[in-house]
Amino acid sequence: MHVARTLLAVGTMVEGGMSTPTFEGRVPATRTSCPECAGVLGVRVDGDHGHLMFVCRVGHTFSIRDLLVGKEEQIETRLWNAVVALEELVEILEDFQQRARRQGLPDAARALQERARRTEVQVARLRSVIAESRAVEVHDEVSRIRATAERG
Ligand SMILES: [Zn+2]
Repeated sequence: MHVARTLLAVGTMVEGGMSTPTFEGRVPATRTSCPECAGVLGVRVDGDHGHLMFVCRVGHTFSIRDLLVGKEEQIETRLWNAVVALEELVEILEDFQQRARRQGLPDAARALQERARRTEVQVARLRSVIAESRAVEVHDEVSRIRATAERG
C-alpha cells in the first residue's frame, strides 16, 4: 500500500538521521492525517526493536496496527457519509423535479430527473465499493513491522 510505504520510508529516515520536516519540533511529520482528529501525524521510532509510533498534535498515538485499523474505519465512515449525502441529493432532486413539472417547467424537470438517475447510479456503485472493500488482516506480524523494513 502506497501510504504504508511512505510511512515506513519516513521511519527509515528517522533511524538514518536524514533531514526531514519535523512535527512540533520533535518528530518527523508524515504526509498522512490522524484517523481520530485529522491533525498531522508525526512518526517516531520506539524502543530497541525500532517499532514505528505515530502521534498527532493533540497526542492521539497509534502503532502501525492501530493506524491501519483507524484508517480503514475512517474510510468506511467517509464512504457511508458519501452514500447518505448522495441519497439525500436524490430525494431533493426528485422533489424539485416534481415541483418543476407541476409548475410547467419541463426542461428543468428533465435536467433534475436526469441528475437524480445519475446520482442513483453513483449510490449503487459506492454501495458495491463498500460491500467489496476488504481490510487487510491485521495480526501480530503486521504490528512488528520495524523502521528498518524498507532497507530489506
Ligand atoms: Zn489526533
